[in-house]
Amino acid sequence: MRVLLVASECAPFVKTGGLADVVGALPKALAGKGVEARVILPCYPALRGVAEKGTAKIPLGRIQGGTATLIAAEEEGISLLLLDAPHLFERGGGIYLDEAGRDWADNAQRFAALSEAAARVAIDGFDGWFPDILHAHDWQAGLAPWYLRQRGSGLPCVMTIHNIAFQGVFGSDLIGPLNLDPKGYSVSGYEFWGKISTMKAGIVASNRVTTVSPTYARELLSNEFGMGMEGLLQSRKTDLIGILNGIDLDVWNPETDPDIPENYSARALNRKSASRTALEKRFALTPAVDAPLFCVISRLTEQKGLDLLLQALPTLVSRGARLALLGTGDKGLEDAFRRASAQHPGIVGTIIGYDERLSHLMQAGSDAIIVPSRFEPCGLTQLYGLRYGTLPVVARTGGLADTVIDASDAAMKSGCATGFQFAPTTAEALADTIDRACNLFLDRKAWTAVMRNAMRHPVGWDASADAYRAVFQTLLDEARQRKAPA
Ligand code: ADP
Repeated sequence: MRVLLVASECAPFVKTGGLADVVGALPKALAGKGVEARVILPCYPALRGVAEKGTAKIPLGRIQGGTATLIAAEEEGISLLLLDAPHLFERGGGIYLDEAGRDWADNAQRFAALSEAAARVAIDGFDGWFPDILHAHDWQAGLAPWYLRQRGSGLPCVMTIHNIAFQGVFGSDLIGPLNLDPKGYSVSGYEFWGKISTMKAGIVASNRVTTVSPTYARELLSNEFGMGMEGLLQSRKTDLIGILNGIDLDVWNPETDPDIPENYSARALNRKSASRTALEKRFALTPAVDAPLFCVISRLTEQKGLDLLLQALPTLVSRGARLALLGTGDKGLEDAFRRASAQHPGIVGTIIGYDERLSHLMQAGSDAIIVPSRFEPCGLTQLYGLRYGTLPVVARTGGLADTVIDASDAAMKSGCATGFQFAPTTAEALADTIDRACNLFLDRKAWTAVMRNAMRHPVGWDASADAYRAVFQTLLDEARQRKAPA
C-alpha cells in the first residue's frame, strides 16, 4: 500500500507544532505495517541541504507564478518529495509568518501550489511511483483532495484535522488565482461564510476525515468546538474518526535522552533528581523537596489557557511549589510570565523562546507538567510527561481527556492513575487540582506509584499506525468494490 502524505511541516526538518511531529513519525510507524509512505513538503531554506542530496528531479513547469521542481530525497528515514518553488518558499522569516510576524500575504498561493503538486503526483505519479491513497494534513493541504476531484480522479483521500481553529480562510477573489472551479463556491463545496476555506475543501473532497483524538472527534460536532465546521462535520459523522497521536519513543526516552544529565528509568527513578537540579539552575529556582516542581512547555496563546495558570499562581506559590515555563507567543502572556518571575524570584522561572533541547531537560527534571488548554485536539507534551514520569495536570478536553487517567480515589485504589484532570477549564478548577497534586506529592509512595503507571502507559505510534492503516485499507476495499462489476 502506498500513501502520499501532504503537509506543510515535518519534524525534524521544519516544525511549528504537533503537526510536524505527527507527519515526521507516521511514515516510520506505517513502514512497520507494510505501508510505503512519502511526504510531499515545500522546499523551505531549511531543506535546501536535503534537496541537494536529492535522488530524482521532475520539472513541474509553472505553478502559482513561477517555475517549480519536485525533488525526491531520503532523510532521517523519511521519503520526501520536496516542492522546490523558490518564488514561494525561498525566503527568510517563518514558514507561515514574515519577519514582522504577519501571515505571508501569499499563503493561499503557497499552499495551493503544494496541493497542486500533490494532486499531480497522485494522478501522474512520480518517477513511476503512484500512491493508492492521498492523506492531506490540515488546511495547508486541504486543496489537494479538492484538485484531485476537480480533475475527475476518484483516488481515495483522507483529510486529517490537527486543529480546526486554523481553517485556511481566504477571500473569494482568489477563486481564479487558485484555479478553483467556480461551481465549487457553494455550501456543499469550498465556500465558507462568503469566503474560501481550504480546510473545508479538503473535508468535502475526502472519503474519510480523521482527527487526532476520539474526544476531539466528538467535540468537533458541537458549536463550542466546531468553529463553524460543526454542521458539515455532523453531516459526515460516520466518516469522522479520532485516532490518537503517538510520540517517537526513540527521541523521547529518559533511558537514552542525550539532553539530560543522567538517564533514568521506572526502575531507577532516583536518577531523575540530576535533571531536577540542572533544571533548577537553568531557571534560577530555589531547591525544595516537599512540593512539586511544575513545568509548562507551550505556545503562549489563548488556546493553551495559560492565563488561567497566571490566575492560579497564588495557590501554587502558597503551597511552596515552583514553576518553570518555556514558551513563546502572545506578547501579553510573555510579559505576564516575565512579571510573575520578577515577583516570585526562585519560585517562578520563565524562559521566553523555543528550545527543543531545554524541553527535554524540563520533561525530565520536573515533577509535573501543566496543560490547561481550552481545547486540545491531541496534545503532545502530556504524552512526553507520561513517558518521563512527569505527571500531567490537564484540562479534561480533547486528547488530554483521552490520555491521562485522573488520580481520583477510585483510580488510586485500583492502581491505574497517571496524572490529574480538571474540569471545567477555569482558574478555580486548575488551582484546586494544583492543590490536589501538592497533597499527593507529600505521599511519596503514592506519587511514585503514579509515576510508574505513567511511564508504563503506551504512548508510542503502534496502535495509532494500525488505526490509520485500517482506515486506508477500508478505503482501498471500498474502491475495489466500486470497480468490481455488480
Ligand atoms: P500545538 O501543536 O498545539 O502547539 P502540541 O502539544 O500538539 O501543541 O505540540 C507542541 C509541540 O511543540 C511539542 O513537541 C512541544 O514540546 C513543542 N513546543 C511547544 N513550545 C515549545 C517551546 N517553547 N520550546 C520547545 N518546544 C516547544
